[in-house]
Amino acid sequence: MEPDHCLNLIGAEWRPAEGKRTSRNVNPADPADVIGSFADSSANDAAEAVAAAVTVRDSWREAGSVARGALLFRAAELLAERATEFAAAIVREQGKLLREAHAEVVRSGEVLRFLAGEGRRLTGVAAPADDARTFAYTFRVPLGVVGLITPWNFPLAIPVWKTAAALVAGCTVVLKPSPLAPWTAALMAQLFLDAGLPSGVLNLVQGGRAAGEAIVAQPDVAGVSFTGSVPVGLAIQQAGAPRLLRTQLELGGNNAVLVLPGADLEAAVDAVVSGAFGQAGQRCSATSRVIVDAGLADALLPALTARVSALRVGRGGDPGVDMGPVITAAARQRCRAAVEHARTHGAQVWCGDEPLPPGLPDGNFLRPVVLSKVPQTSELLTGEVFGPVVSVLVADGPDEAIAIANSVPYGLSAAVFTPETSHALDTVQRLQAGMLHINRPTVGAYAHLPHIGTKLSQFGPPECSTEVMDFFTELRSVCVKY
Ligand code: NAD
Repeated sequence: MEPDHCLNLIGAEWRPAEGKRTSRNVNPADPADVIGSFADSSANDAAEAVAAAVTVRDSWREAGSVARGALLFRAAELLAERATEFAAAIVREQGKLLREAHAEVVRSGEVLRFLAGEGRRLTGVAAPADDARTFAYTFRVPLGVVGLITPWNFPLAIPVWKTAAALVAGCTVVLKPSPLAPWTAALMAQLFLDAGLPSGVLNLVQGGRAAGEAIVAQPDVAGVSFTGSVPVGLAIQQAGAPRLLRTQLELGGNNAVLVLPGADLEAAVDAVVSGAFGQAGQRCSATSRVIVDAGLADALLPALTARVSALRVGRGGDPGVDMGPVITAAARQRCRAAVEHARTHGAQVWCGDEPLPPGLPDGNFLRPVVLSKVPQTSELLTGEVFGPVVSVLVADGPDEAIAIANSVPYGLSAAVFTPETSHALDTVQRLQAGMLHINRPTVGAYAHLPHIGTKLSQFGPPECSTEVMDFFTELRSVCVKY
């Protein structure tokens, strides 16, 4: 059967959801551009996908990690060949800039290659035992069938880094991407098939909450790796708790840039512009707050405003555009409502009210916003608005800056700008965030470094890096008497 990327992939077959139910996926820059009507899966569809993954669980484990790693290398080569196709799909489906989409494809390839190498690094340890004539060692076994549930903001990178880690570890997979990013995920599933992945090892279930909940509820699912919002992550954790389901939760943030005395203001402004408005602010590690020392605030605010006002908003694929649309009309409305609430409660809006350029289609476009004097009760300071809005807060010295940064329930990423090495190192020790940057934006991650957070931002072993194997494998210890 020819693949149809609007369908589910279950075992060897691309097939529709139960009752042929579908949901429409449109281009966020132009809702008249319908990408497709994708399967809207039921609990039964999810159960069938899990059953298909169970069927090949043993054979995939027995294939061995070196062979599984070799398959990931082939997938990385194919991805490089198809980079243009993938980048175009990401722009159309998610709305980001073409250069951001290309960067996502490149990063996905790097993660694939790094994790491919795990096929030769899945080691245990040899250990001493109390009895001198006993030899002890540990080894890893695959976790089993895993559910992978992903968001829409990195429609390729996040499905790739979860799937690649699961596959090299020897797990079989049921992937449920976001209903706002089904197409890129389907292209990714096809990529793994073309790289030689046996049928049933990777199953794709399109759909929304019902399909996600059903995957979590399946007793044959040994672990769920989830990336998305805090409320959904907590719901998954609670649903799995009665059977001690292993979960890996990569959740939201409200990330701060600290601009301390003596900081290079131009570099700090550059970092805030890219961190807050790259991908229209829709990155888990996006900058939401700038905490500036009182002595620098009067210089920073106009400099930042000048840069942000000049950003050109438009379709991600068009040349000369600096910021694409947000994902849905509802997301745009949420950003607008948060800004209006802050404004009516005393915030000063430095930019964001300018008109959009004429001639844009009826997409989810929004001007980037800079605010100051944001009230403590604002969702901009307490929650995750996930759009192109940044709040500038003034701190009276480094200690207060750190206290403000740590005052949110999240702890994903943070950045500090200071020329003083000792200040920088002291600050990163005290910041409650998993990914820390000194004189760099809050965004940016590498395949070999853990993608990690603290507090409500993350739970379980991190993604990327060798440490991800702690999620997708179980350790065994063996004692041998000789
Ligand atoms: P979301 O939580 O709304 O949805 C994520 C996924 O969960 C989707 O596939 C959705 O269909 C599914 N889902 C929804 N309800 C479910 C349920 N009850 N049970 C099981 N699955 C369910 O998030 P989103 O809007 O797609 O993505 C944006 C969020 O993702 C932001 O909060 C962002 O910070 C976060 N994010 C985090 C990271 C990270 O690494 N920490 C990376 C990217 C995005």
